[in-house]
Amino acid sequence: MGLKLLPKVTPLHLAQVRLPESHPAATFGSSVPVYGFAIDHPDGTILVDTGVGHGSAVVDDLYQPERTGLDECLVRLGVDIDNAIAVVNSHLHFDHCGQNPLLHGHDTRFYSQAAEIDAVNADPYYTVADWAIAPASQQRVVRGDEQIAEGVSILATPGHTAGHQSVLVEGGGRRVIIGAQVVWHHSELTAEMASRANVDPDPDLERAAVDSMRRLKALEPEIIHLSHCDAYRPSTV
Ligand SMILES: [Zn+2]
Repeated sequence: MGLKLLPKVTPLHLAQVRLPESHPAATFGSSVPVYGFAIDHPDGTILVDTGVGHGSAVVDDLYQPERTGLDECLVRLGVDIDNAIAVVNSHLHFDHCGQNPLLHGHDTRFYSQAAEIDAVNADPYYTVADWAIAPASQQRVVRGDEQIAEGVSILATPGHTAGHQSVLVEGGGRRVIIGAQVVWHHSELTAEMASRANVDPDPDLERAAVDSMRRLKALEPEIIHLSHCDAYRPSTV
């Protein structure tokens, strides 16, 4: 069965950040886009990642973010943020969960892998915890893969972090993936190589990262959307 039509997936340019020279991804360029994604699902809007938040002097100082409000991006799509039924955070670094608090206190569900929540709790420098952790009544803890709506499934894709996850969207015989930060740059997906820009030099994580890339490509999606780079399009590479 499944959905008759593929839900539309729209990238949201939520911020532009400046990478410090010491950042391993600075070799790809120092000014970097931060994309979130809106899935126009029949049940309501499902968001993937929410960009950089407000109120962290450390983040502002290091990354000099130019932000666009998540609510503003959604208005441009004709969507009221109150219509967001779920937020999937690919992982909980500061530039992927920053505007989550706009939906705290709503009915919105927040999906993160258990490994990500463990990382936030274990390391005060991992992210901005106030952005990352949702109120308990809204937080959904994922372990591995999980279908969260008809035609929308979370896929565990570790590598960049131990709890990184992607989102598969299916309908009408079509398939699109939001790979988020499964790679930094789409050339890594072509080469099936974990770059130092995206993955710490740890053999287990590097192996996991390549397995995650292969897993997504094996699903033969039309496109793999990415957090910090133009999308990967298998048909044109
Ligand atoms: Zn990250």
